[in-house]
Amino acid sequence: MSDVLDLTCELIARPSVTPEDAGCQAMLAERLSRAGFACERLRFGSVDNLWATHGSSGPVLVLLGHTDVVPPGPREAWASGPFAPEIRDGVLYGRGAADMKSGVAAFVVAAERFVAAHPDHPGTLALLLTSDEEGDAIDGVRRVAQLFRERGERIDWCITGEPSSTAELGDLLRVGRRGSLSATLVVHGVQGHVAYPELARNPVHAALPLLGELTARVWDDGYGSFPPTSLQVSNIHAGTGATNVVPGTLEVQFNLRYNPHWTADRLVAEIEAMCTRHGVDHTLSWHRSGEPFHTPEGLLRAAAREVLAAFRGGAAPEESTGGGTSDARFIAPLGAQCIEIGPVNASIHKVDEHVRVADLEALPGLYLAIIERLLRAEVIA
Ligand SMILES: [Zn+2]
Repeated sequence: MSDVLDLTCELIARPSVTPEDAGCQAMLAERLSRAGFACERLRFGSVDNLWATHGSSGPVLVLLGHTDVVPPGPREAWASGPFAPEIRDGVLYGRGAADMKSGVAAFVVAAERFVAAHPDHPGTLALLLTSDEEGDAIDGVRRVAQLFRERGERIDWCITGEPSSTAELGDLLRVGRRGSLSATLVVHGVQGHVAYPELARNPVHAALPLLGELTARVWDDGYGSFPPTSLQVSNIHAGTGATNVVPGTLEVQFNLRYNPHWTADRLVAEIEAMCTRHGVDHTLSWHRSGEPFHTPEGLLRAAAREVLAAFRGGAAPEESTGGGTSDARFIAPLGAQCIEIGPVNASIHKVDEHVRVADLEALPGLYLAIIERLLRAEVIA
């Protein structure tokens, strides 16, 4: 069994359902310490975070990942135990096989190989691992980034090992992420009998023109390689169930995925103004889950592109800003250039989550090649 396969299996066998770490980070810290990394355990609330560094000068290259996984769902839906790693036909099955214990294991193996081959490398190689990526994401990387800001800790480059490949390993290089903003809109009316509308105020009728404008609006035409900003209504509810009652309130939840044309503040102001213009009696509450970020052309993108193209026999990866959010959203605002490279994401969060063993075994080499292109004297001088 190869080192990275062995380590991935050891991680899958620990049932680290968010925010539980189940000993994953302690095991990795021990390994990294043995390789010469300085390890700092940062526990906030019920969340474990690990900050491991090798070197003390700039530039700082961070490998970012999470040890937590989403719940497996019903055991009987799985062909083998979600926390009992099993290989069938060259594919490794288990919760976290793709998202993202394979990426974390590949990071650790690549880091060990790098410092063994270049013990006096210039710059700093660091790993940042959290056990709260899949959950609330409050005491995880968001909190660590706040600490780094207070300490004046600088990060130049960040590689996230989230499963970002689509059909085959290395076919996609993520170079940015859209921002995400959620809202709950409550429209207030007055409940009453449908036969006496003059004694009631119908919040559904009040809300419809507003919702019409909100959902029909074109927010922008996209931004660079980003798709246009989109608003989607996810839940809507009003009514008591009876056919003769005007409801007292209407509640709508919606989410915006937005490109760097907008900030959360500007979207909030725009939508508040729209509600006011419609004269609707309402309350709006917001949840901001991360501003967008974009990594422009530069050393990091170029190094990653070269390595992935070489791995795929010359075929350059698609450079994309699509998909959901990741913890890179908290590191990018520190001034870091961020990219994401990881295994194929087709099975993440599903039953029978898996990764091809051949992909897993190629992953440390890809990360190592990128690290070697960045942390060398010619680049840093
Ligand atoms: Zn993940």
